[in-house]
Amino acid sequence: MQVRNPPDAPQPARCRATTTCPYCGVGCGVAVELEQDQDSVRIVSLSGDVAHPANHGRLCVKGSALAETLSADGRLTMPQVRDGAGVLREVSWETALNLIAARFADLSRTHGGESIAAYLSGQLLTEDYYVANKLFKGFIGTPHLDTNSRLCMASAVVAHKRAFGADAVPCSYEDLERAELVVLVGSNLAWNHPVLFQRLKQARIDNPLLRIVVIDPRVTDSCEIADLYLGLRPGSDARLFNGLLAYMADRGRLDRLYLKAHTQGFDAALKAARREDCSLAAIARDCDVDVERLETFYYWFATQLHVVTLFSQGVNQSTSGTDKGNAIINCHLAGGKLGLPGAGPFSITGQPNAMGGREVGGLANQLAAHMDYETPGARELVGEFWNAPNIPQGPGHKAVELFAAIERGEIQALWIMATNPAVSLPDSTRVRAALAACPLVIVSECMADSDTLAYADVVLPASSWSEKDGTVTNSERCISRQRGLLAPPGEARHDWWQLAEVGKRMGYQAAFGYSGPHAIFREHARLSGFRNVAPRHKAGSKPLAASSIRRLFNIAPLAELDRAGYDSLKPIQWPVRRGDNGELIGTPRLFEDATFNTPNGRARLVPVTPQLPHQALSDATPLRLNTGRIRDQWHTMTRTARSARLMNHRAEPFVELHPQDAAARGLQDGALAQLAGRDEQGSVRGDYRARVRISHGQRQGEVFIPMHWNDHFASHGRAGALLAGLVDPLSGQPESKHGAVDVMPLPCEWQATLLIAPGVWGGHEDLAGAMTELEGCYWARIPQATLVRCQLAGEGQPDWALWCERHLSVQAGLWAQDVAQGGISAAGFREGRLIWWLRVTAGAARSDRQPNIAWLGECFASDQLSALERRSLLVGRLSGQADVGTMVCACHQVGELTIRQAIQSGDRCVEALGARLACGTRCGSCLPELKRLVEEERSDERTDSLEMA
Ligand code: SF4
Repeated sequence: MQVRNPPDAPQPARCRATTTCPYCGVGCGVAVELEQDQDSVRIVSLSGDVAHPANHGRLCVKGSALAETLSADGRLTMPQVRDGAGVLREVSWETALNLIAARFADLSRTHGGESIAAYLSGQLLTEDYYVANKLFKGFIGTPHLDTNSRLCMASAVVAHKRAFGADAVPCSYEDLERAELVVLVGSNLAWNHPVLFQRLKQARIDNPLLRIVVIDPRVTDSCEIADLYLGLRPGSDARLFNGLLAYMADRGRLDRLYLKAHTQGFDAALKAARREDCSLAAIARDCDVDVERLETFYYWFATQLHVVTLFSQGVNQSTSGTDKGNAIINCHLAGGKLGLPGAGPFSITGQPNAMGGREVGGLANQLAAHMDYETPGARELVGEFWNAPNIPQGPGHKAVELFAAIERGEIQALWIMATNPAVSLPDSTRVRAALAACPLVIVSECMADSDTLAYADVVLPASSWSEKDGTVTNSERCISRQRGLLAPPGEARHDWWQLAEVGKRMGYQAAFGYSGPHAIFREHARLSGFRNVAPRHKAGSKPLAASSIRRLFNIAPLAELDRAGYDSLKPIQWPVRRGDNGELIGTPRLFEDATFNTPNGRARLVPVTPQLPHQALSDATPLRLNTGRIRDQWHTMTRTARSARLMNHRAEPFVELHPQDAAARGLQDGALAQLAGRDEQGSVRGDYRARVRISHGQRQGEVFIPMHWNDHFASHGRAGALLAGLVDPLSGQPESKHGAVDVMPLPCEWQATLLIAPGVWGGHEDLAGAMTELEGCYWARIPQATLVRCQLAGEGQPDWALWCERHLSVQAGLWAQDVAQGGISAAGFREGRLIWWLRVTAGAARSDRQPNIAWLGECFASDQLSALERRSLLVGRLSGQADVGTMVCACHQVGELTIRQAIQSGDRCVEALGARLACGTRCGSCLPELKRLVEEERSDERTDSLEMA
């Protein structure tokens, strides 16, 4: 791979460069060291960028493992087009791009531009997004361009617009460090934004007066630093914050001066809150929280000025997510708690560039540069700037609606970029049917492990992190460079390039003749300032010219950056202005002058009527389903599954249940379970099969499952298949936190662990095919460094010897069978090398004889096993080797059982565990889990001693 513009040092053998992490919305800076020999370059080390304001040198476990995800294996490297026989064939870029341009032109002529759509991703860079928006909305003339950010923060966007007149996050990360009270609502910060969690944790150490409240139906690892936890009823957030508004009014804790001078709508908002009984007892009952805890939270919020309420998907992913966001913002406005250091409502985005997508108009209801279709004069302004002939008349379909329109046949062509809707959207079985029926599906993707590729008529290989070059904007409005350091493999190309080439082929050469991301960024920055007379409303400022539209988002000074200035751009928060000496000045905090982007400059409090989840529970689906992320995986695993250590924290799909719900269903910890929902007709919706985790942190009547697994890594691991496509009517965001399911034991007569050398099977299809001969009902595929681990379960009594011979490339060289117990241990060798290893146990329960996978991994890597090792294979471990248990510390590969044993033998705190085992001493992502294990073991000790007493 070739060096692509290492920014800090042009041609050295070793050089350093900085870039930005491609995962979550924290947007951490990453420092890499590159080594170049004759004609290749590689990343030799990777660490947090100490100069980046988001992370100051920290990285979480996912960011730390980035270098492990970069191999060319499994990358898409050539364009492909599906032929008449339904087979994808490699073609040249020329062929693929000409085909797309011709089909688009033809559809535009015959069915109109609105028959063409795009579905994008918060993983794209701002430059990619900008070109996509311009091509589809400006030139093809379709409004149907939406993004997977719709699933993440669309409700917060609408809440911001309703309250502030602009989609503007008021706060900065440093506000967490300057607050007196931080409230986490619907946010498991410890797992989903780990570096921000570490910053908050450090802030609490530095300031013992800082209090932290966690509001979440689940006890998550974020509770590690909580002074107060409210385990509220799912979906009751708006009731909780309406109650807080009434409490502030009743106790004289409103900022009357602020309300009078800078806001409107307070009386109506309070009246709406008071429509329900606002006594503490009634609110505590409705939210199902302890009344004393509720009062403590209300008192802390009402009496502190410097309060940050940090909210995330737990609030947004709801049929009333927008109202929940406004209920939170109402309380901040009522108390004058924003526009100050350490104060404000703070929506944290899930993806690295959800904010950048919003800046360019990546949502179907946006036009461009923070202008909506409804904004008077916006269509004309954008049309003039782009010299674009086909600006649509109004908003397009939001994500869930978009796929419904495809199902109805209204959309004839869909271009999907950097996302996997066949897995990530709710009601994903229906989404797959829509994709299958769509006449033209184009998928731009870098990884081959995307389920959506199965529906592609044209596959375009895309560049990936470390290859892509451009900018991203994180949750605190900070624009950072993601730098292109390595050349993409094979024929992979940047997304913006693919779009621009199609635009040129459709006849729009002048509009899409970009020389590179720098040129795109400059145009984007110029548009942000085009007829944008003032960055914000000023009392007494001149009336706007008729053709001007006042927008908060303004980065016009960045349009003056030359190529070198763009390449060396330091992180900066928008809006951006020039100082007196010509320096670039960002804006850490918005609304400090209490002037908002509404027509009269006042913020709006919004009346909110609380609503509970729309997906109804029933006798057939009595459990409330919560879906979410886990610590070590990202989205649908196409990238993070490439790092073996990231696979081990939660190796299989799982379902977390309260002990009583598990007992009522006869489910044991570690057993396999099956989840299903019901559609409107009562038919079964979805089939999710997973390992049971019994958790006291789960409320009774509710279950949690991860959203990550796709068909490449599990037979039935798609969470989206269980969810109805119900959305917030204002934001279009799906209700992914509030499904309705039942859970039952998965009938199986045997379970097996199969380890197989890489390359023996081509991929998941070989495993899935082999499982059909076993009456298999479950499999999970877990790639490791030296082997692929497969967890299997099924029914009947397979002829294992025959199956091994047929499917595992070599016959068994070792075989032991326990006829009475129905267990088998076996291994196959080729020229002395271990090729496969199998352990089968009878029954549905997980065996307590777990093999030592780490040791077996060493055996797979060995050229020649010793006699002792070979003898020990049937046991699955060397004599005396202990089972390490589920992986807790991914950096140092320290398992739960090892940690529990260390605690039992005297390491009574996280620091002692770190000193002995090194766990928690690198990225720190596992520290909350370590602390929980210490607390669990110590409470067990206390219980034991009490019982003995
Ligand atoms: S917190 Fe982790 S995943 Fe998120 S940006 Fe930082 S390093 Fe990346």
